Amino acid sequence: MREQYLDPDYVPEVLPHREGEVAEVFELLKPLVEGRRATNVFLCGPAGIGKTAVAKFVMREFSEQAVQGIYINCWYHRTEVAVLTEALRQLSYPVPRKGRSVDELVGEFIQNISGERLVFVLDEVDALTDDGVLYVLSRTGLPVGVVMVSNDPYAMRKFDQRVKSSLSPVTVEFERYSVGELFDILEERARLAFQDYDPMAVKVAARLSYKHGSDVRYGLNLLLRAGRLAGKMGQRLEVQHVKGVEVQEDPKKERRQGELEGEHRLVVEALKTLGGRALSPELFARYRKIGGKGAERTFRKYVKELIELQLLDSEELLGRGKRRVLKLR
Ligand code: ADP
Ligand code: MG
Repeated sequence: MREQYLDPDYVPEVLPHREGEVAEVFELLKPLVEGRRATNVFLCGPAGIGKTAVAKFVMREFSEQAVQGIYINCWYHRTEVAVLTEALRQLSYPVPRKGRSVDELVGEFIQNISGERLVFVLDEVDALTDDGVLYVLSRTGLPVGVVMVSNDPYAMRKFDQRVKSSLSPVTVEFERYSVGELFDILEERARLAFQDYDPMAVKVAARLSYKHGSDVRYGLNLLLRAGRLAGKMGQRLEVQHVKGVEVQEDPKKERRQGELEGEHRLVVEALKTLGGRALSPELFARYRKIGGKGAERTFRKYVKELIELQLLDSEELLGRGKRRVLKLR
């Protein structure tokens, strides 16, 4: 099994059933090819239905026409400084030293991109904590097309009216896939990933994905697990393997998109009651006190995940032993 083709981050050569959206976005951004300003776009719709894939696909097409692409997931780069720094890094400019003022950084960014043509993708744009970068991008006067992406159709609401009106993006709404469409998409990936498989297995995976909000990511994950199971049994992929695995919805995705739940929420709550800053054992004690159920090891796992989600920061203290301060971000 060639697992890389079932990786949700893999951007396929073709995107069945998203040809319309690809063409629409491409059309809006096309003036960039001639160095003119483009119409910005906002892609929205539920999770796992190809928004990111379309954005990356279009970016790749433009790169063949000397339009550079920048892809930023705002979940990981939430502030104006973070986004611009990452953009400079992707354009291979030396990353500015820390401690530079926002104005200097903006100046540097504008200076570096003049003469370029850019598609600037801001994925999960609702995660931005300020609209500074949107303001900057709306006013460069340069051939920059901004593609904003979100699961939330109202994501733009929280941003300043002036920023919104100078960006004035055209909204492209993504609809859920039908079972048949899911089958075509998963089939395409299955053909790449498996030497041999029963098409009925893909059909079942498509049906299950449909039940899970038409989330293709869910279907890919299902095929991956089922493929591993089949491999272990020395068989080709069959319906029984797809039915024999259980796929949790990507917990990271869930947590990212909604409120934090359960034990993770308790860890954050506990830290809040400690003023947003505590030594690890101190936090563990408080977490247990307010009803946390995890043992210390599990607690450490929650902490690690919260750090990955960039909700907590951890800092090693110098001195004897290994002591760690945890901070709310
Ligand atoms: P979203 O950004 O809407 O949450 P993604 O674009 O990340 O969803 O899609 C999830 C997965 O499904 C990715 O691996 C993507 O390549 C795949 N996918 C979604 N739609 C299609 C499609 N029409 N053709 C091929 N793969 C697709
Ligand atoms: Mg996405």
